[in-house]
Amino acid sequence: MQGLKFNNQFTSELPSDPNDGPAERLVSNALFARVAPKKPTSPYLIHYSPEVAKKIGLTVSECASKDFVDLFSGSKIMPGMDPHATCYGGHQFGNWAGQLGDGRAINLGEIDTEEGHLMLQLKGAGPTPFSRNADGFAVLRSSLREYLCSEAMHHLGIRTTRALSLVGTGEQVMRDFLYDGHPALERGAVVCRVSSSFVRFGHFQILQARQEIDLLKRFTDFIIKREYTHLATKEKLDHENYLAFFSEVSERTAEMVVNWMRVGFVHGVMNTDNLSIIGETIDYGPYGFLDDFNPDWTPNTTDSAHRRYRYSNQAGIAQWNLMQLANALLPLVGDSKPFEEELSKFAQIYQSKWENMMAQKLGLKKFNESLVQSLLTQISAIEIDMTIFFQRLSLVSDADSDSIAPLKDAFYNQDDARGNHGDELRKWVKCYLSEIRDQGIETGKRVTMMRETNPRFIFRNYLAQLAIDDANQGDFGFLDNLLQVLRNPYSEQPKSENLAEKRPEWARERAGCSMLSCSS
Ligand code: AMP
Ligand code: MG
Repeated sequence: MQGLKFNNQFTSELPSDPNDGPAERLVSNALFARVAPKKPTSPYLIHYSPEVAKKIGLTVSECASKDFVDLFSGSKIMPGMDPHATCYGGHQFGNWAGQLGDGRAINLGEIDTEEGHLMLQLKGAGPTPFSRNADGFAVLRSSLREYLCSEAMHHLGIRTTRALSLVGTGEQVMRDFLYDGHPALERGAVVCRVSSSFVRFGHFQILQARQEIDLLKRFTDFIIKREYTHLATKEKLDHENYLAFFSEVSERTAEMVVNWMRVGFVHGVMNTDNLSIIGETIDYGPYGFLDDFNPDWTPNTTDSAHRRYRYSNQAGIAQWNLMQLANALLPLVGDSKPFEEELSKFAQIYQSKWENMMAQKLGLKKFNESLVQSLLTQISAIEIDMTIFFQRLSLVSDADSDSIAPLKDAFYNQDDARGNHGDELRKWVKCYLSEIRDQGIETGKRVTMMRETNPRFIFRNYLAQLAIDDANQGDFGFLDNLLQVLRNPYSEQPKSENLAEKRPEWARERAGCSMLSCSS
């Protein structure tokens, strides 16, 4: 592993807890505690990402070595690594939860690469001071979902943490998958995640909540200098820099959520401890992709009563979370007014990014509000597959005897295409085609724009479940196949078109496909 050059700025520049080890405790006046991963009995490689391996400077033969499995299962620590878990707090489902922290994530250390620094983090490698009553481990089911989805999101063009490897631990982990009082043993696994920073809004919140204001300033300065270098315009950072920082975090968050909306991604647990300070999608738990376009949908059964984190609520929640971040940064600025302005700017920026995105989804030069709103109302009234619908929309033309013929595959119930809903949609297509003419859009250009905006392959919930079913039997072929396909989500892939099909009937109500608990 000669390519891995550790340069641990987080642990060398920021204060640590005076004690090491996983004993459960409150960690104050410190950003982290040193803790080693727990050695698994018989780790084995399930999959790795050659792209991410290359990015961090590993060769193919290094990835095939026993050392690779040992290092990325937590079996072995190499010189230069400085394993630690970080301390953060957060609002969970709108309520302040106090100290949370990396309960089952252990940062191994930061490496320097040609493109900048990257932190390597094991998820599921054993208890830390922040594990509270849980075990610090992760099951294969949830680790596979994180591994595949973070790679899929990256290739969809959405900022996200990446994943280097998925390693089985050889251990069994007890989980109550459905939270229905039937715990069972499942295969354990560890994902190695990669990002320049795993810092969340909650890292700032806990310092403010504890009134550790000197440390809050020191930490914010560290993050700006390290992750927002272009904003560190002075030797001593001041309120201008802190506001510029907040403004850019808001902008990146808006961009990220607009992208989620574009592909139908629902995060599922947008607690403030699950929002990244660098605007990356982080912590893949009970997330899901919309099959039929239902703006009220959330995959997370824990949230089924209030649907706080449903598809259509994600922008509002992002803003709410930013407000909590603003509260945390307030002591550094001393005046809430500029934060209020930034928060209302968030709403405008989000709206304008969302309008651009919707225009591109439709292949339009200019957003047309009534056209878009009437479409969204129509496709949410019946079961229409979001991904297939926008794919096929590039094919509609005046030449067809039935203008919605190219869209029929998107209907879950063909009766809807024949009845009133079909007629409404025909009217809408007519307006759409006339708008295209009015905006003077050439067909070729429209089709290209739509194909680049609307993915053909998303990581559908039922595909994840099929990969999990196989993996639990020790068969990782489908996982590999799926990842290959998801690396090119906008291209036609004739041999794999079955993976672009809409959710089959068997998956409609099956746990893992239509609903997920936080059990992971
Ligand atoms: P989440 O909402 O899943 O991102 O997790 C919320 C908090 O629970 C974080 O502090 C996690 O580190 C912690 N957590 C979740 N699962 C486990 C586990 N199996 N062991 C220890 N801590 C966990
Ligand atoms: Mg989390």
